Amino acid sequence: MAAEGTDDSYAKLTSNELAFGPLPEAEAALSEALPRANRYPDSHASRLRQAVADANPRTETCNVLVGNGSSEVLLNVLQLLPVPGEVVYGWPSFSLYPSVCAVLGMTAKEVALTEEQEIKPEALLSAVTDRTRAVILCNPNNPSGTFVGLDRVRELADGLPDGVILIVDEAYREFVDDPSYNDSHTLALERDNVVMARTFSKAHGLAGLRVGYGIASERIADYAERVRFPVSVNLVAQVAATASMHAREKVVARAEFVIRERNRLQEAFGDADLEFIPSQGNFVMVRFSAADFERSGVLVREGEALGYPGWSRVTVGDSDENDRAVAALA
Ligand code: PMP
Repeated sequence: MAAEGTDDSYAKLTSNELAFGPLPEAEAALSEALPRANRYPDSHASRLRQAVADANPRTETCNVLVGNGSSEVLLNVLQLLPVPGEVVYGWPSFSLYPSVCAVLGMTAKEVALTEEQEIKPEALLSAVTDRTRAVILCNPNNPSGTFVGLDRVRELADGLPDGVILIVDEAYREFVDDPSYNDSHTLALERDNVVMARTFSKAHGLAGLRVGYGIASERIADYAERVRFPVSVNLVAQVAATASMHAREKVVARAEFVIRERNRLQEAFGDADLEFIPSQGNFVMVRFSAADFERSGVLVREGEALGYPGWSRVTVGDSDENDRAVAALA
C-alpha cells in the first residue's frame, strides 16, 4: 500500500527514512494505546525518558530532553539562547538550521566543508566570536554523510568559550560503523554546555509519529523542558518510541542491514565510475542526476537544493529499492 501522496510504482529514496515500518513491539504498543486516545498523554513523557536513560549508561531521566522530533529538541535548546547572537555550523548541512535561526532572530554563520566534504572542528572554532551563542555539529552530516570522531568532538567542546552551547545533531548515529563514535552521550553528561540531539525518525522507523530526544546536563534539560510546548509528544509517539527503545537490539540489526546496503550502493557507484561521498548515514551523495534516477522509477533528493548541483542524495532503501537504484546507473 502506498503512503498518502506517494506512488507505489516508484522507489521513494528521497527523505532518509527507514524502508521498514515500526518494530512489531512498537506496533503492539500503538494498538494497546489507541483506545486510551481520549486521555491526554503524560506531559513529562516519564516512561520514554526512563527508556532513553536506561539505554545510555550513567544517564538519569533528568538528563533527557524529549520533543516532537529532534527538530523540536533543536528548537527548544536554541530558544534558550540570548538574542541577538550567532549560531555557527558547517555547510552544506540540514536545512532546518538556517530556518530556525531566522525564526529565532539569530544570525546563521555557515562554515564551508573541506574539499573532502567534511566538517572541520577547527574551522567551526575559528568562526566563533563573542557574539556566538551556539555551535551545531551535524554528526554524521546530512547531506554529505561525513562524520567527526568523538575525540575531535571533545576537542571542539573543550575549545569553546564559556557560555557557548555545542549541539551535536546525531539523527543518523545508528548508521555509523566507526567505533570512535561509541558512547558519545558521555560528553553531554560530562559538561554543562553540550547537548546530543537524537531521533526516532531514522533507525527506529517512526518518522511519521514525530518523536526525538536529547541528552544534556540537568541544567540544560531542565530549561529546555520549560520552553517545550507542554504535550508536544503525543500518546502514541510516546508508547511506540518507548517500546522501540526497549527493543533496541532489533534497531541495531536493522541499522546493520542499512550499513551493508549502503556499502553495496557505494560499490555500485564506484563500479559505474561515479563520484560519491563515502557516507556514515543512511544515504549517499552521488554525482548522478535525480532526473536520470527518476527515469528508472527511483525518486531521490535532487542535489542542487542541497548545495551539490548535478548530484543526488540517495536514501538507502530495502534490497529491491536499492537494486532499482543500482539498475538506474546502467
Ligand atoms: N537532524 C538531521 C541532520 C536531519 O537530517 C533530520 C531529518 N531529516 C533531523 C534532524 C530531524 O528529524 P526529526 O525532526 O524527524 O527527528
